[in-house]
Amino acid sequence: MIEFLNLKNATSPLRQELIEACTRVIDSGRFISGNELKSFEEAFAAFCGTKYAVGVGNGLDALTLVLRAWKEQGKLHSDDEVIIPANTYIASMLAITENNLVIKIVEPNPETFNISPLEIKKAITKKTKAIIPVHLYGQLAPMTEIMAIAKEYQLLVLEDAAQSHGSALAGKMAGGFGDAAAFSFYPSKNLGALGDAGAVTTNDQSLYELLLSLRNYGSREKYQHDYQGVNSRLDEIQAAILQVKMKYFKEDLEARRKAAMFYLSRIKNPKIQLPVYTDHESHSWHLFVIRSNERDALKKYLEDNGIETQIHYPKAAHEQKAYHGYDLGTFPVAEKLQSEILSLPLSSYISGEDLQKICNVLNRF
Ligand SMILES: *Cc1c(COP(=O)(O)O)cnc(C)c1O
Repeated sequence: MIEFLNLKNATSPLRQELIEACTRVIDSGRFISGNELKSFEEAFAAFCGTKYAVGVGNGLDALTLVLRAWKEQGKLHSDDEVIIPANTYIASMLAITENNLVIKIVEPNPETFNISPLEIKKAITKKTKAIIPVHLYGQLAPMTEIMAIAKEYQLLVLEDAAQSHGSALAGKMAGGFGDAAAFSFYPSKNLGALGDAGAVTTNDQSLYELLLSLRNYGSREKYQHDYQGVNSRLDEIQAAILQVKMKYFKEDLEARRKAAMFYLSRIKNPKIQLPVYTDHESHSWHLFVIRSNERDALKKYLEDNGIETQIHYPKAAHEQKAYHGYDLGTFPVAEKLQSEILSLPLSSYISGEDLQKICNVLNRF
């Protein structure tokens, strides 16, 4: 069986270094809010080309805390509308409703799967105050157009960069386009911890300082609480592990891109549509998502031939039970995509042999 993703295979080459990193933390006796976190934040901000990075507990908290911070700053108010794409993970929506803001969903571009600037413009009302573009599957949302719209309508932009560590446009990295960006280091992401972790990147110093406080009970000085904050910290063990992962991340990205290029050049079947992307660096290939009108039959056929696939996502966020009773609208483009998409195995360690086998099997479908 060619597994969709095997985290043990992805992690084992770094086993010794990871153990050394954990040992360093154990021997330091400092497990929360120490130098490991500081070092990782600096390295990650440098990687993204932003002034600041703030480590938090996970990707959802990164999204939620930025919106919360903007409310504290008076830039957002309850019942303001926030635009998101229809085809995203539910986290983007949860961050909005958790802050008593209103979800405004728009359709994606059916070619790239990413949020459509034209649809964003149509969705803007007097109550719209922010956009959360999602760099879905590792492909940058059309940030040039989105930032122009944001400027015209004075909207805040929070990139959901949970799937796009390393995606770039003309040398500018994901996380450096909007007013802030949210990253997840969930183990299966491009850059993954060995547990939960997340971060916010930003160039805004006041937002940065506010987030340092909000993630730590609203406190920057022990027993002084300026805000009704939360406990969402990136611990020292995960920060140490992420620093090891960062050292090899560029190589990992290149391996992902090579695997994607292999698929793109070898899959030739009229029943299968390949992903559309704009240029080499814009896509970090978190997922390699093909389309077919016969998706369910294709998935079963691949399984019968020893190839595991997944669907991202089988049910749209706005159709989930969690949002029953919300009048979110219907989104035929996203819903059609959802019935056609299939994610193929792609990782930094996948072998040429496995890739060739997958292509051969696909081409015989
Ligand atoms: C994974 C993911 C998140 C959430 O990250 P967690 O660390 O699991 O909370 C948010 N948005 C998108 C698009 C994601 O893929």
